Amino acid sequence: MEKTLAIIKPNAIANAEEIEKMIIKDGFTIVQRRRVLLSKEQAMEFYAEHRDKPFFSDLINFMTSGPVLAMVLSKDRAVRAWRRLLGPTSVAAAIKKHPDSIRARFGSSDTENAAHGSDSAESAEREIRFFFPDVTLYPILSGMEARDFVDD
Ligand code: UDP
Repeated sequence: MEKTLAIIKPNAIANAEEIEKMIIKDGFTIVQRRRVLLSKEQAMEFYAEHRDKPFFSDLINFMTSGPVLAMVLSKDRAVRAWRRLLGPTSVAAAIKKHPDSIRARFGSSDTENAAHGSDSAESAEREIRFFFPDVTLYPILSGMEARDFVDD
């Protein structure tokens, strides 16, 4: 099973339960979850590829404005499937084209767009290690079957 990293961002943390229900309903297994308050340094490291973008400081201030919930999700083609459920980066585009997506439902601006998803298998590996450097991955929530316990 492929794995990806999901983050429920500070503006959507109050909706975390509902978002987790959407995740389970879509057939993902939540393999790990961790609620953390990122430091500015950690957020800057996580989003390093965007350091020269005009929105970078807004993004860092937002991502450190409150706790986030990081989760490892597992499913066949999890990276793609989670990006689809997430919706496009722009909340306006999400509302227009994918009204059932997480960003359409819980996003409030292009920066405060409710959740994050890795954009490739390579990013997923780096991002999972960023939030979960020291854990062996075991499923901890419902929606899993015995085969999910077997490593890929
Ligand atoms: N972002 C922003 N303004 C923009 C584009 C992106 O504030 O014009 C923020 C937004 O929170 C987004 C994050 O920066 O989720 C990372 O941007 P990316 O282009 O990687 O989008 P994503 O992969 O999150 O859809």
